[in-house]
Amino acid sequence: MHNLKEQVLEANLELVRRGLVIYTWGNVSAIDRAKGLVVIKPSGVKYECLTADDIVVLDLEGKVVEGRLKPSSDTPTHLEIYKAFPYAGAVVHTHSTYATAWAQAGLDLPCLGTTHADCFHGPIPCTDSLDFNALAVGYEKETGLAIIRRFEGLDPAETPAALVRNHGPFVWGKDAPGAIYNAVVLEEVARMAAITLGINPAAGCPSELQEIHYMRKHGPKATYGQ
Ligand SMILES: [Zn+2]
Repeated sequence: MHNLKEQVLEANLELVRRGLVIYTWGNVSAIDRAKGLVVIKPSGVKYECLTADDIVVLDLEGKVVEGRLKPSSDTPTHLEIYKAFPYAGAVVHTHSTYATAWAQAGLDLPCLGTTHADCFHGPIPCTDSLDFNALAVGYEKETGLAIIRRFEGLDPAETPAALVRNHGPFVWGKDAPGAIYNAVVLEEVARMAAITLGINPAAGCPSELQEIHYMRKHGPKATYGQ
């Protein structure tokens, strides 16, 4: 598990370098699917003090199997995402400004151009409010379940991000660097969309153009890169 711990440590530090996180407002985890073990940042430890030994290993039921610190308080949300979305190899949660602003506005983040379409297939869904009658399962677990309910009929591999209403983004990827990339791009396209709709509230992007750009990078006939 040492490699995965190093990856998760590096991914957590990358969130800070990319300006997506201040104080301890974010967390990254990754999963070893063969072992069924999740590796996650400990709760409330300053990023500048984090070492690979601080990273916590737990099973999909949340039982800690390695590490002396408490795992991130958002762990149950991460676990629900791993259980429901086999594509997810890593999960990132931040309160990055623009993605969080969309979550607080309670709106799906629309695709307004090719920057968004290169990374995400369609809008980034915003969840409904939590089911406050279901909080007996735990607030963080219900947060994960709200994401999964919103993804009914959607492909989490094509739309690897969710805006949790009144809270912020949860983003995933096939591995930790991929999930970080998606989180950085999400923040950037959320910022662009806010500016775009400020200039022209009626702005939109033809679905044909969205398809061309998404498929150029992700489709079976992807042509982007070497
Ligand atoms: Zn949060």
